[in-house]
Amino acid sequence: MATDQNKFQAIISHCKEYGFVFPSSEIYDGLSAVYDYGQYGAQLKKNIRDYWWKSMTQMHENIVGIDAAIFMHPTTWKASGHVDNFSDPMIDNKDSKKRYRVDHLIEAHAETLPAAEGEALLAQMDNLLKENDFAGLKKLIEDKKIKCTVSGTSNWTDVRQFNLMFSTQLGSVTDEASEIYLRPETAQGIFVNFLNVQKTGRMKIPFGIAQTGKAFRNEIVARQFIFRMREFEQMEMQFFIRPGTQKEWYAYWKEERLKWHLSLGVSPEKYRYHDHVKLAHYADAAVDIEYEFPIGFKEVEGIHSRTDFDLKSHQEYSRKKIQYFDTEINQNYVPYVIETSIGLDRMFLLTICNAYEEEDLSKDGKEDSRVVMRFPAKLAPIQLAVFPLTKKDGLPEIARELMDKCKSSFFCFYEEKDAIGKRYRRQDAIGTPFCVTIDHQTKEDNTVTIRYRDSMEQERVPLDKVKEIVLNKINE
Ligand code: ATP
Repeated sequence: MATDQNKFQAIISHCKEYGFVFPSSEIYDGLSAVYDYGQYGAQLKKNIRDYWWKSMTQMHENIVGIDAAIFMHPTTWKASGHVDNFSDPMIDNKDSKKRYRVDHLIEAHAETLPAAEGEALLAQMDNLLKENDFAGLKKLIEDKKIKCTVSGTSNWTDVRQFNLMFSTQLGSVTDEASEIYLRPETAQGIFVNFLNVQKTGRMKIPFGIAQTGKAFRNEIVARQFIFRMREFEQMEMQFFIRPGTQKEWYAYWKEERLKWHLSLGVSPEKYRYHDHVKLAHYADAAVDIEYEFPIGFKEVEGIHSRTDFDLKSHQEYSRKKIQYFDTEINQNYVPYVIETSIGLDRMFLLTICNAYEEEDLSKDGKEDSRVVMRFPAKLAPIQLAVFPLTKKDGLPEIARELMDKCKSSFFCFYEEKDAIGKRYRRQDAIGTPFCVTIDHQTKEDNTVTIRYRDSMEQERVPLDKVKEIVLNKINE
């Protein structure tokens, strides 16, 4: 269970220093587990969202996208099971009054143990969680002498369930009927719109509905930067299928989603599947796609076979028929669902962690280094930087012309201050894959120097080929 806390801390600092992620309302000392995305972070996040959206909707004729509201009728969350079941076993330390999610407390302890011992402990925990054996979990924590990080004692309360939904009031009347929730997942906005989309889009099963948007969870142990937030964004797709075909579609999406991750050039060794032992109340199979962050292998995406639980439950609570007539087999049924659910912020963190590199460039006794973000060109917040070598001799004018030619197709950045080497390093740190320098030779032969971020190689190319070179790489 090797982790690299130092690297993780360096990444967090880099994110702040270069305008990717800031603590929320930092001038008031921040808000725990809430973050803001800065100028480069917001663009990187949007590029990841767009890439997901395009691969789900544009690339699949039978998947359409919607954008449902964050607020939903409160009965939605009764039907989905969130009011009764969306809770985690918690334990409080009596001395520090600090509350922990039981699985996180045990996992953190397991990380301090030798690998085999840690794995045995996690297996024991999984079994107890599966049985909902709260007394057993408490005993395990006591037997292992797990301590609170604040008080340093093992003086624990009993294990209890704690609901993770945020609630608020709709309208001005503060009676119970107006209490609503901030959605804890985007999926329910898809289920309640199943018939709307199926009918208006004349969709035939199998088909999918995709959506991206904010979700809110009152996470008790919110730590590890943007890995676990209280306000975050999900990218979910619910795929509606004929009952009985869920095994094959589950296998299909499990493979398909890993392929999507690998299409971004991440090495396959950095990924693994983790099958769920304790299934959620709605699922008959579930797997996590995990990535090896510097803090260890952690979930990025879940693929869940949700049966007909959600649609059936909404049918029951709304007393409206939610069924599909399958003309191929002449039958009415409530469709089964395979869900793919990925956290956009976690995918952002993955992209950042995977791209971040501190490179030693020392040569011939001269010390040198750089921090480079090796983002795939299609995700980079800035895709082309344009530098006139000097501020005079007509070079800025040529550079501006190139900017005008390119900026409607991809993100460009113009800079004329400082030495070229310094400008390159700043672009390396935000992950710009291409820098182009306009110099005096450009005026003579219409060529420019293009410098590649990853190899740091430079070559002369015709000025009018720059746009095409960048576009080819982005569309790869
Ligand atoms: P975890 O076990 O980490 O709490 P989960 O199994 O509850 O996650 P799901 O309900 O399956 O997560 O949500 C799907 C995806 O949403 C997760 O794979 C993750 O990427 C993302 N996600 C869930 N909770 C958070 C959070 N608090 N902050 C950021 N992303 C989250």
